[in-house]
Order: sequence, then structure tokens, then C-alpha cells
Amino acid sequence: MSEDATVLFGREDIRRRIEELGRDITGDYEGRAPVLISVLKGGSVFLADLMRQVHLPIAIDYMSISRYGDATESMGRVRIVKDLEVDVGGRDVLIAEDIVDTGLTLSYLITVLESRHPASVEVCALLDKSVRRITPLPIRYVGFDCPDVFVVGYGLDFQERYRNLPDILAVQDLSALSADPDLLVPYLKGVPRAVPGPDAGRERAT
Ligand code: 5GP
Repeated sequence: MSEDATVLFGREDIRRRIEELGRDITGDYEGRAPVLISVLKGGSVFLADLMRQVHLPIAIDYMSISRYGDATESMGRVRIVKDLEVDVGGRDVLIAEDIVDTGLTLSYLITVLESRHPASVEVCALLDKSVRRITPLPIRYVGFDCPDVFVVGYGLDFQERYRNLPDILAVQDLSALSADPDLLVPYLKGVPRAVPGPDAGRERAT
């Protein structure tokens, strides 16, 4: 039977990696009170898990943006639909991003945030599609390097579906998913666990 998607990063790997990121952030920002920002909606799941691993008096806030076409068409320019409520002037800002692809959206957002005179702006990206980068972008914390595949789950959607998948899945055939956006609905009921063996680290969905 052909697979519509495979598990690229399983929930346990994600949990462990976020624990490590939280430890690094807690150490690096010792004595400070950073503001953790997430861009709705994709980054919300990551921020929810990350903030509980950062043992500092943080604040959190959310932004919502709308894109003019895709990132390359718009060169990353976005319209801010919901702005921050926290004043980031003089504060250390850490943007928790689900995935950085071309980097255009994020570099535009960093420019917007820097115009508000924060003490610092850094990025913590769960997934870094570094091979797709157009704009050089300093990402201080990276969860996983991500191959050039379309992924869903753990906050990442396809037409608003699949954000609630606990694992991150690589879509095998994006045109098949475009033709039938419900193609991966069976995966919402659970992905079979990895079969123990020489390849046990690589989980496979059937
Ligand atoms: P960038 O400006 O870096 O090209 O765009 C990043 C945004 O594109 C992400 O925040 C995300 O919304 C979207 N994106 C990029 N790659 C993927 C992917 O593989 N899956 C999903 N669901 N969204 C993606």
C-alpha cells in the first residue's frame, strides 16, 4: 500500500528537542525576562510547549499576519492583522517560529520588531528548511533541519487542516493532497508506531 505521508519528526523527538531548546534559552537569558512571540496560527503549538521549558519570568504574546500571495511574490511583506499587546521597547524578544522556509516573512517581521527598539531580537525555529533560504537570517535556536518537503502537523496546516497532528508528517504527493485536502484525515486517528528493528529510529506510517 502506498503511503500518503511519513513521520518526519515524531512527538517524542519533538518533546525531547524542545526540552533541550528550553534549557539553552533558560541558560542564555539567565537574569532577564524575555518576551516570547509567536506568529498565529502555526507557531502557537510550538510556543505552548516551548514556554513551559523556559524557567524564567517570561511574557508571551501573539501576532497574526496575512500574506500578499506567497512569500517570494511579496518578498515577505505582510499585513499585520493582530499586533502585539506587549510593548517590546527595551525588552529581549524571542520569536518562536514553527518553520522558516525562504526566510522572507521572518526577516520582514524582524525589521518591524526592530523599529520598536527592543533590547534584542532572536529567533527560535522548530524547523529550518535551510536549503530553501533566500534571505540570510540568523536563527539562534533551531529544533531540526528540515528537508525540502511539505510538512503538516504540530501547528502546521494544509488548508487549515492537520494542525492538531501530534507528529510532523512529510507529505508524499502534494498534488494528491491538493486534489483531496482530506487525504490525510485517517492520520488524525493515529499513526502506527515504529516497528522495532535496525531502522527503528525512522517511524513509518502505513
Ligand atoms: P517563508 O517566508 O520563510 O518562506 O515562509 C514561512 C511560512 O511558510 C511558514 O511560517 C509557514 O506558514 C509556511 N510554510 C513553509 N513551509 C511549509 C511547509 O512545509 N508546510 C506548511 N504547512 N507550511 C509551510
